[in-house]
Amino acid sequence: MFKVNDNYQKLPGSYLFSTIAKKVSAYQAANPEKTLIRLGIGDVTQPLAPAIIDAMHGAVTEMGNAETFHGYAPDLGYEFLRTAIADNDYKARGCDISADEIFVSDGAKSDSGNIQEIFSVDNRIAVCDPVYPVYVDSNVMAGRTGTYDPKTEMWSNVIYMPCTKENNFVPEFPKEDPDIIYLCLPNNPTGTTITKDQLQEWVDYANRIGAVIIYDGAYEAYISEDNVAHTIYECEGARTCAIELKSFSKNAGFTGVRLGYAVVPKDLKCGEVSLHQMWARRHGTKFNGAPYIVQRAGEAVYSEAGKAQLKEQVAYYMKNAAAIKGGLQNAGFEVFGGVNAPYIWLKTPDQMTSWEFFDYLLEKANVVGTPGSGFGPSGEGYFRLTAFGTYENTLAALERIKAL
Ligand SMILES: *Cc1c(COP(=O)(O)O)cnc(C)c1O
Repeated sequence: MFKVNDNYQKLPGSYLFSTIAKKVSAYQAANPEKTLIRLGIGDVTQPLAPAIIDAMHGAVTEMGNAETFHGYAPDLGYEFLRTAIADNDYKARGCDISADEIFVSDGAKSDSGNIQEIFSVDNRIAVCDPVYPVYVDSNVMAGRTGTYDPKTEMWSNVIYMPCTKENNFVPEFPKEDPDIIYLCLPNNPTGTTITKDQLQEWVDYANRIGAVIIYDGAYEAYISEDNVAHTIYECEGARTCAIELKSFSKNAGFTGVRLGYAVVPKDLKCGEVSLHQMWARRHGTKFNGAPYIVQRAGEAVYSEAGKAQLKEQVAYYMKNAAAIKGGLQNAGFEVFGGVNAPYIWLKTPDQMTSWEFFDYLLEKANVVGTPGSGFGPSGEGYFRLTAFGTYENTLAALERIKAL
């Protein structure tokens, strides 16, 4: 009789967003006359920018002609895209990352789930709490997290770094040394971030204890403050301790197009073993390349027209963020984030739990958000709203919340 990977049995049941979807559809079925405004899931709403659509049209035409048709893409990505990434995201910022250290993928979710594969099952991971669920769940599947305690909602072999208003949402070095440290900055779900000096301390710490930082920079395009690093490689020493994951989903609306990349510097080694070579081997074996049409679309993100159009798109969402933040503050809420990220993280009023506030907002204001406790125990008593809605819906949701 075959055996399954028992680790999957350890995963706690219901996924946050499916629970939300069930509650929302039950409410809508009971109240068909109500119009709900959804500021819950972190998906974009603006269409792809014209420069990107043009590039995709061009690539589609190429695919229809024998002379310009493209079959399998190179495993690690087309040179034109890897060079555009290296030039624009790294060299232009004074960071020493070369095109052959960039691995093009179908998105940062896959990369953040897959990257743990090249590490021993004996490694101890550290995550921020609250956290993007993929980091922990992918390590559960690999058998790296120990046992789950349903009471505390924590894994016995995971080091949690609470990020709350008490520490300004800045993770502190854990008491026990981790081997792998996940950092997502600017952060989903809290919408907060740390300064470049604070990130430098993390890089120094990782180099000192011999840990790897897996740095998820999915929200980099939303950074508005000068003292925040746009890539971890702005920090001295990051080439020997950090892997950076990036996505085209949030800066360019590629959530349905699918494109991302991982940076694995050649200086990142475990003794004599090169993580760059390991990731190249893994990627080449298990991934057959992002589609040509999509990689051309990604290249257009770095064109002059693309950059200008995407700057506007990000500004549109950040106008929503500012409206939510200001509006909620005026209504007496305690609000965080929303300055360097498209998420607003608020303290629930009157000691409500995250789920109590979810129900209250759904029933009294017909607004859907995300309970903070769904992202980890330290998210209890917090609530996430996203700036990814339309401006009109965002303002309408605020009016409803203010009227409570
Ligand atoms: C949205 C998001 C991503 C992007 O995932 P894709 O697979 O590239 O769409 C990665 N990390 C975090 C924390 C995110 O919120």
